[in-house]
Amino acid sequence: MSAAGTHVLVTGAAGFIGSSLCDALRARGDEVTGLDNFDPYYDRALKEANLAALRRDPGFTLVEGDLLDRAALDAALARGARKVVHLAALAGVRPSLAEPLRYLRVNVEGTANLLEACLRAGVEELVCASSSSVYGARSRVPFSEEDPCDRPASPYAASKKATEVVAATYVHLHAALRIACLRYFTVYGPRQRPEMAIHRFVRLALEGRPLPVFGDGGSGRDYTFIDDIVAGTLAALDRLRSMPEPFRIYNLGGAQPVLLRELCAAIGEATGRRLELAAQPEQQGDVPITAADVARAGAELGYAPRVPLREGLARFVAWYRQV
Ligand code: NAD
Repeated sequence: MSAAGTHVLVTGAAGFIGSSLCDALRARGDEVTGLDNFDPYYDRALKEANLAALRRDPGFTLVEGDLLDRAALDAALARGARKVVHLAALAGVRPSLAEPLRYLRVNVEGTANLLEACLRAGVEELVCASSSSVYGARSRVPFSEEDPCDRPASPYAASKKATEVVAATYVHLHAALRIACLRYFTVYGPRQRPEMAIHRFVRLALEGRPLPVFGDGGSGRDYTFIDDIVAGTLAALDRLRSMPEPFRIYNLGGAQPVLLRELCAAIGEATGRRLELAAQPEQQGDVPITAADVARAGAELGYAPRVPLREGLARFVAWYRQV
């Protein structure tokens, strides 16, 4: 557990994972500064809804600013955070194919900018979001942190791998730094980004519209419920000083890959609708399967995914129906 009163800067605080993490940090008594620029990738109103309770909480402050803006980062860190969880990024594989340069700039240069600001502010402990996409189009499962991953399949994946490399370089050069990079595997749950498959499929199912299924429905994803991701992220934040190395990578996954056609069937059950599937061609940038080996996270962080897909989908649908 954290020492009471730790002050944490969370970048990407208005987003899906960021706002959920800020809620959890506040619930255990940490002070939180959030940074977000409300990137228009999806509607600001959804992000404001994510922040609604936090905005009323005196232990939370939001700095509206851009990762690429040195002054905004200095101002955010000047509020006194001693640890950082870096979640701000342009997320999403497919849009990165259309805007590779912007993805690389925000995700890679933005991370370096944040690390420089941390050095200026004397902040030594960071957790950074990486992604299962760094493993590329591999078919040998499960994916372990020691597997080679130098063949990303999209600019987004490349930007996440580069984020890890930049973080490792800073740790090499600055002995005081401790950084954990967390490879999140397809996260879902309340507040999930609206373009992600589960959110989109539930919306379409409830509207009685066909679900676009890419390829033959045989691609597999390791879906991870948001509460498990938040628990793993808090565990990493609390254990930065006890990691076996000052730079460490951890997979955080559900450890139960599900085929796309199985996901569709489970969404049919969770929504109580008969689904129509509309076959679509394979998408460039997509990978055939993701599957996390979570042994390291289990041994070193005490991480264990607890929410199975059916329960997580039921909780997502319940949330979706009331927003
Ligand atoms: P999200 O888009 O909901 O949240 C990201 C937030 O970052 C947004 O609120 C956005 O406005 C903010 N942001 C973007 N560019 C910024 C900039 N230049 N300056 C300041 N803020 C900026 O996405 P999410 O799903 O919550 O993802 C959070 C992190 O987790 C990202 O780093 C993402 O790559 C990573 N990740 C997510 C998943 C997933 O399944 N959701 C999987 C793997 C990795």
